[in-house]
Amino acid sequence: MKHKLNSVIGCLSLLLCFLLFRESPHFWTIVIAIVVLFCVILSCGILFLRFEYFYPAIYKNTREAVILTFDDGPDPVHTPKVLDILQKHQIKALFFLIGKKAQENPELVRRIMDEGHEIGNHTQNHPIFFALYSRKKIAAEIDHAENTLKILTQRNVSLFRPPIGYMNPSIASVLRKRNLKIIGWNVRSYDSFKSEEQLLKRLVRLTQKSSIVLLHDNREHTASVLEAYIQRAQANGIIFAKQEQLKKFIHEMHH
Ligand SMILES: [Zn+2]
Repeated sequence: MKHKLNSVIGCLSLLLCFLLFRESPHFWTIVIAIVVLFCVILSCGILFLRFEYFYPAIYKNTREAVILTFDDGPDPVHTPKVLDILQKHQIKALFFLIGKKAQENPELVRRIMDEGHEIGNHTQNHPIFFALYSRKKIAAEIDHAENTLKILTQRNVSLFRPPIGYMNPSIASVLRKRNLKIIGWNVRSYDSFKSEEQLLKRLVRLTQKSSIVLLHDNREHTASVLEAYIQRAQANGIIFAKQEQLKKFIHEMHH
């Protein structure tokens, strides 16, 4: 929707510029400025889910409880550690699973479900260049993961998170047809790049009541700081979602 608006405004601006300034010595400067502005807005739409430029996204919770989300698992080494810590604190999280890894670790998918967490589709193979794929290949990645997860959990998966978090009109149209909901985030941990100490500091500093936190359960650092993060955030008055709160968050999203 915002993409259409930006495109219409871009075209109208170029038309107006041509009608009003075609004799002006600044004509080309104005044309370039309009094109650059259009491209900057477009890039933000591609890079940031929370812009909701191509497709709606949920990127904050209802201020009741912080939602932890874990991408790129299940991982045979680190996911069990993450699950142990969540279990200890009775925190329920959202796991965006890669279909291929789910196939390789079906017992972990079952454990995630049995312990009351929710799962989402994070494509079958997590292609780095997913956003450059054709619509057909995008649909195949999403459907393959959906089938994999359905077979393993006997449930329909209605939540989706694009690999790397990039969006475009093709991904949006595939999601729209399947009525999949995007869950974004408003706290990005950068746990793939940061040292344990930096990661812990960043998480504690940024987590607020309305946070949806992006973490990765295939990273050693994430598993090793999780316990300290939960304890420090709780000491700051942060409440992490328990079963009821996660259910309510998912339920409200669909209505
Ligand atoms: Zn990912």
